[in-house]
Amino acid sequence: MGTRGYLAGLMGMHYPTEYTDNRIKSVAPEKWDLFHEMLLTDELSRAGSGGFVWNVIGGFGIGCPPLVKFGKKELVKRILPGILNGDKRICLAITEPDAGSDVANLGCEAVLSEDGKHYIVNGEKKWITNGIWCDYFTTAVRTGTKESGMNGISVLLIERDMGGVSTRRMDCQGVWSSGTTYVTFEDVKVPVENLIGKENKGFKGLFTFPLPHYPLILTPNPRFFPISNGITC
Ligand SMILES: Cc1cc2nc3c(=O)[nH]c(=O)nc-3n(C[C@H](O)[C@H](O)[C@H](O)COP(=O)(O)OP(=O)(O)OC[C@H]3O[C@@H](n4cnc5c(N)ncnc54)[C@H](O)[C@@H]3O)c2cc1C
Repeated sequence: MGTRGYLAGLMGMHYPTEYTDNRIKSVAPEKWDLFHEMLLTDELSRAGSGGFVWNVIGGFGIGCPPLVKFGKKELVKRILPGILNGDKRICLAITEPDAGSDVANLGCEAVLSEDGKHYIVNGEKKWITNGIWCDYFTTAVRTGTKESGMNGISVLLIERDMGGVSTRRMDCQGVWSSGTTYVTFEDVKVPVENLIGKENKGFKGLFTFPLPHYPLILTPNPRFFPISNGITC
């Protein structure tokens, strides 16, 4: 997917040519759009396994766009090429054992260190697609007070090799090949440069982008929809 250029075309946004030399052979980057993205997911769905499709593009499609759209240029330049080439993997970590639909009240906390150089992250994430294989976690954290609700949420790019990140596969009824994961962050030291967007303004970013493009490419997709629910592979 990476070496053939497809990953760069799966983010519901302008194809980022500056971060990868890999190109989709049949469609020029400037002509690539959401319709091509839908065709691609449709073709992948011929495998007949929703888990497989989520395995190959799930974490990438929702974890990468916030980084590209709101991450600092130096961070994007350092991280994105490896992801687009398929050498590294990324996921989106919002949901927690006690916060599913109620994202505004999530509890995974990120406390700024006294010297202002790091966030110290502690908390748990649940149901994270691709998490067991991921190098990077686009993570919703609480940087505000417990009472701050949606106005106290930020997004951090947490890197597995920062230490304190552990992942375990969840024993799920469906889409098990997508690697649904329970993630634990324990005193993870995250440089402030890894803040995606602005502190305490992460909630809006999470919901204005990238999730809305998913219904556009998946809902009308004749092959993906039948395999996305209720099967065990
Ligand atoms: C296979 C799989 C993969 C996933 N991948 C990811 C991922 O990659 N990253 C990630 O962050 N999360 C992921 N999730 C988590 C998913 O986004 C959550 O399951 C979802 O947000 C719902 O949360 P919940 O399961 O805790 O349900 P709950 O929030 O407990 O909701 C249970 C039910 O109550 C209803 N409900 C909740 N609140 C209200 C309300 N106020 N009024 C009326 N009805 C309400 C809901 O609609 C639902 O029917 C994944 C989940 C699954 C199953």
